[in-house]
Amino acid sequence: MPPKKEHIDRIYTTGAAGYPGCEHIEADENGNKDFSKVIERAKELNPPTQIEEGKIVGGFAHGQVFALADKVVEAVKNGAIKKFFVMAGCDGRMKSRDYYTEFAEKLPEDTVILTAGCAKYRYNKLELGDIGGIPRILDAGQCNDSYSLALIALKLKEIFELEDVNELPIAYNIAWYEQKAVIVLLALLYLGVKNIHLGPTLPGFLSENVANVLIESFGIGGIGTVDEDIEMFMAR
Ligand code: SF4
Repeated sequence: MPPKKEHIDRIYTTGAAGYPGCEHIEADENGNKDFSKVIERAKELNPPTQIEEGKIVGGFAHGQVFALADKVVEAVKNGAIKKFFVMAGCDGRMKSRDYYTEFAEKLPEDTVILTAGCAKYRYNKLELGDIGGIPRILDAGQCNDSYSLALIALKLKEIFELEDVNELPIAYNIAWYEQKAVIVLLALLYLGVKNIHLGPTLPGFLSENVANVLIESFGIGGIGTVDEDIEMFMAR
């Protein structure tokens, strides 16, 4: 991302990273890097100020969710939880990403969001409550923790003795931005997950042919309006 002009004299790079106008810290012949310039510059600047307060609940990687498995399974069996929504992935500055805040807000109260990565910052401060003590946002952590979400899906498949991961009451409405999110998507496709929806736009680097394969073989789709999408997901 090109930095704003007013920040460029406060951005330093090192290693493989670099940007015109940002000072680059090189290692000396022994591989040591001298970061004293960065420290001096930081000392000249005003300290950060608190801009908000409150608390959010996190820590629902697979170990913790497996510990709650009995509760979760019971809630699915007795209908207290109708559907899980994997709303993992990235965040970005585009206004169109407000879609994910509105989507989380409007989801029926018998649904639970499984999240990991930056996408959660669009909705993790909403008061979505809990279902019998299970928070309606189960946050596994950062994007690499999508691994946990995959394990949770596979565990549920095992517990419910299903043949296919797609038989689970799980919908995938994923926000993407960076290449890493694409790798996560490939992992989900490898696991056979179908009908994943990506937004706010489909990746522009997909050629028409590749996009067609993803759509025809895996049912990949984009997003529409929040109301239409919730209706579409809940009908599946
Ligand atoms: S790939 Fe980058 S933007 Fe996306 S969830 Fe991970 S850290 Fe956030």
